[in-house]
Amino acid sequence: MIVKKNEKYAVECQVKMTTNCLQTSEYFHDEEDALHWVEHECWIFSGEGWICTECNEYIMANLGRIRHERGF
Ligand SMILES: [Zn+2]
Repeated sequence: MIVKKNEKYAVECQVKMTTNCLQTSEYFHDEEDALHWVEHECWIFSGEGWICTECNEYIMANLGRIRHERGF
């Protein structure tokens, strides 16, 4: 889930489910700094990778809608 560009590292969004998706975090010289950045920005760790705030909102909105349609 870490992408590297020009000797810098960023965390990549795992799902990229929405056109608003942030795609990647900012780029840092150190992987640890990129991880700290996504934690600070409240990205969600799924167990396999990180989900950006935009995709998380999208997922939450859709889960809510699905539950509503099923009458839960
Ligand atoms: Zn995303």
